[in-house]
Amino acid sequence: MVAWRHVLLVGLAALIAAPAAAQDRIKAVASFSILGDLVRNVGGDRLEVAALVGPNSDAHAFSPTPADARTLGTARLIVVNGLGLEGWMTRLVKASGSKAPVVVASRGIATRTLEGAIDPHAWQSVANVKIYVANIRDGLIKADPPGRSAYEATVADYLGKLDALERDVRAAIGQIPAERRKIITTHDAFGYFGAAYGLALIAPEGVSTDTEPSARDVARIITQIKAQKIPALFMENVVNPRLMQQIARETGAKVGGTLYSDALSEPGGAAPTYIDMMRHNIRELSKALAP
Ligand code: ZN
Repeated sequence: MVAWRHVLLVGLAALIAAPAAAQDRIKAVASFSILGDLVRNVGGDRLEVAALVGPNSDAHAFSPTPADARTLGTARLIVVNGLGLEGWMTRLVKASGSKAPVVVASRGIATRTLEGAIDPHAWQSVANVKIYVANIRDGLIKADPPGRSAYEATVADYLGKLDALERDVRAAIGQIPAERRKIITTHDAFGYFGAAYGLALIAPEGVSTDTEPSARDVARIITQIKAQKIPALFMENVVNPRLMQQIARETGAKVGGTLYSDALSEPGGAAPTYIDMMRHNIRELSKALAP
């Protein structure tokens, strides 16, 4: 009798501890790949996460399809960046008929503005991403209260990894001589990074990718590169490299490789997760800016 009860209890415990079967997982939809990775890290096994704007794709200029509306329609939780990044999202949520709660991951961060526009690229500061992760955790706990302790545990673990990442970013930038800490990128995606870690940035395209710079903008940048002796310019994974290649030719500035700005790489690529992305970017910056 006692033995049977023991077997039953052990069996029950195993049942409770088993990871959720695929069909029981909570469906969360993130607007773009970087956010998708953060949601995955908070949600662990309890979640099935989809990202609408995929690897190496531009979240500013995204054109949703009916399939995206269907994906959104299945979500129990929707996670967006906010700060004007996903101008296409409101209409898409409406088209999907979704009533799922929407978590704005950037809520509570200190925003940066550039020429009157709010800069949406807050994820380029690790300190901001810690706030993102806390907002995502709180949203998940609200949507799935039985998961509270699981979410709190995965977040505590992930925050530890972000602390280590932040230390490494500071150390890497600290190794670059102060007078060489300036770069050019195509669009202004690294303002939060620059403000947090001490790097000056110039970008011909401003905080979005939806306007092509004029010939005058490009001429102004070329003058600036020469006058300020900017050591390197960088391509981005989400924008056409043509403009940077032209500027490099006309200034003789070094092309420092590709930075991941607004999207991750494909799995197996150089930056399949947020942490990989930040580590890749500091490696590229260190290589190009070392004296
Ligand atoms: Zn951007």
